[in-house]
Amino acid sequence: MYRRIFKYLRPHYRKFWAALAFMVVFGATDGVVPFLVKYILDGVFTQRDEKLLWILPILLVGFSVVRAIADFGQQFLMASVGHKVTEDIRNDVNRHVLSLSPDFFVKNSTAEILSRVTSDVLLIRTLLTDSSAAIIRDSIRVVVLLCSCTYLDPMLSALAVVFFPLAGFPIARIGKRMRKLSKRGQDAIGSLAALFQESMQGHRVVKIFSREQFEQERFERGNHELTKTFIRSERVRALAGPINEVLASLAVSGVLLYGGYTVISGARTAGGFMAFLVSVFLMYEPFKKLTRVNATVQQGLAGAQRIFEILDTPPTIQEPLNPTPLPLGHAIEFHNVSYEYPTRSEGETKVEALKNISLLIPESKKVALVGFSGAGKSTLVDLIPRFIDPTQGSISLGGVDIRTVGLAGLRSRVAMVGQHTFLFNDTVYNNIAYGNPAASRAEVLGAAQAAFATDFIERLPLGFETIVGEGGMSLSGGERQRLAIARAILKNAPILILDEATASLDNRAEREVQMAIEALVSGRTTVVIAHRLSTVRDADTIVVMSGGRIVEQGTHDHLLSLNGEYSRLHALQFRDVEAVAELAV
Ligand code: ADP
Repeated sequence: MYRRIFKYLRPHYRKFWAALAFMVVFGATDGVVPFLVKYILDGVFTQRDEKLLWILPILLVGFSVVRAIADFGQQFLMASVGHKVTEDIRNDVNRHVLSLSPDFFVKNSTAEILSRVTSDVLLIRTLLTDSSAAIIRDSIRVVVLLCSCTYLDPMLSALAVVFFPLAGFPIARIGKRMRKLSKRGQDAIGSLAALFQESMQGHRVVKIFSREQFEQERFERGNHELTKTFIRSERVRALAGPINEVLASLAVSGVLLYGGYTVISGARTAGGFMAFLVSVFLMYEPFKKLTRVNATVQQGLAGAQRIFEILDTPPTIQEPLNPTPLPLGHAIEFHNVSYEYPTRSEGETKVEALKNISLLIPESKKVALVGFSGAGKSTLVDLIPRFIDPTQGSISLGGVDIRTVGLAGLRSRVAMVGQHTFLFNDTVYNNIAYGNPAASRAEVLGAAQAAFATDFIERLPLGFETIVGEGGMSLSGGERQRLAIARAILKNAPILILDEATASLDNRAEREVQMAIEALVSGRTTVVIAHRLSTVRDADTIVVMSGGRIVEQGTHDHLLSLNGEYSRLHALQFRDVEAVAELAV
């Protein structure tokens, strides 16, 4: 894991090494301080040397300037390396998440992934910069001070050094515990964020059912768990300092006692002894930081683990190694296809959503899928652009297995207009142009026209430049759909998948959307999931699905004459729908 984290430093190694050089200078200057103290005390005060009195302040200023420059250099460079590294990690996570298959987003909540991208990446940054800086800089300081100590007084140094390693034992144990708690804490942040996001997204549901209290309590429970974990880890972290403090005070007392006696007995000068004391005191701060660093490192590693978990999730839909060229034809054929949704937890029974489906969707023809909810219609169409891959059987496009052609190529052939249209929080224009970034302005306007969207767009406050709000919130359902249709028209893909959502619209909106859809369908290989049978009469083939199987297939009249599932569906739906439609007209 370390190696993997440090790989991120590689592109910034120049800055990193410069920062290290500054650290070395900064650390080394520490060693000078005890000597300054010794010469001030012994030279100026004991021997009353006036020349030294002048030289020392000048030296002191020069020394501080060097130290200040080194300090600035190491802090600034290290911090900027840290920010660069987090930038790279965030980019990697985003790139990877974009490559992941739809099932990943079913299993993981957006808020949780978001928390990884934000807070876990910060932990890694702290690990890389603060901690590695502390380890390098403070080790240098301790070593340099030890050297000057030893030079000043080998006997006393030996005494002090004995106590330092003693501190190592509790520190190592504390570190391990920190890592575990930190991982738990970060997980808890993620689930809390997910809760928060849900109650915000579902705010209308929360309000109408008056479940504010319930949501608040649910949040408070999660929040409390999080706080508990944090407080526990703070307790562990806070232990490291005091333990060292006590050990250090033991060392200092020993040094004081022994040193004091030797000064009184005249075996050493007061300057020498003070210089030694100063170096021990100076050593204390970097030493304390070193002992604390382990905790930060462990937190960083926990963060890294969570980030790498995302980066190591392979996309379930794999790009072929040697893609074959896209075929010319657009006929789609299902060869004995079955599909089973992966289970989310152990022991769950598997849902076989499709069973032995064999179906030909001829080029430029319109095939309608009908059937009760849960029959497997959405699953079937998700297989075409490879949102999912069949667990058994295969699907071919123009006679070529779709798993052998490049994913981007395959998807460039397919336009989808679903029930849940997604719009970006951007202008109307950009939302349509998303379908084909290379399109000219005239083409975008043409697509809007073809989707019967121009009228309502022109009534918007800023026309095509109106921002639609998150998820297109400022638009009505029918308007959102027409934008989605315009986007699909602009994509101009030969295969069209429609999940008809006109059921949720009023009659006028439905007619407008219906006209827009007709503009889109003409001449394309179309698969339409029809919720209203009124819209499928003209389909070349109607496929009736039930329980993951195809139970009937044929034209409207043929299916009605069979007196089976289709006519049942028809009987159930059609009467009501026609009655309503007649009233509205
Ligand atoms: P339809 O579109 O005809 O309403 P679907 O294709 O959505 O039917 O669903 C077919 C079956 O697969 C249903 O039993 C449904 O519960 C199940 N299903 C759909 N999506 C998932 C999923 N992500 N994970 C597990 N089961 C699913």
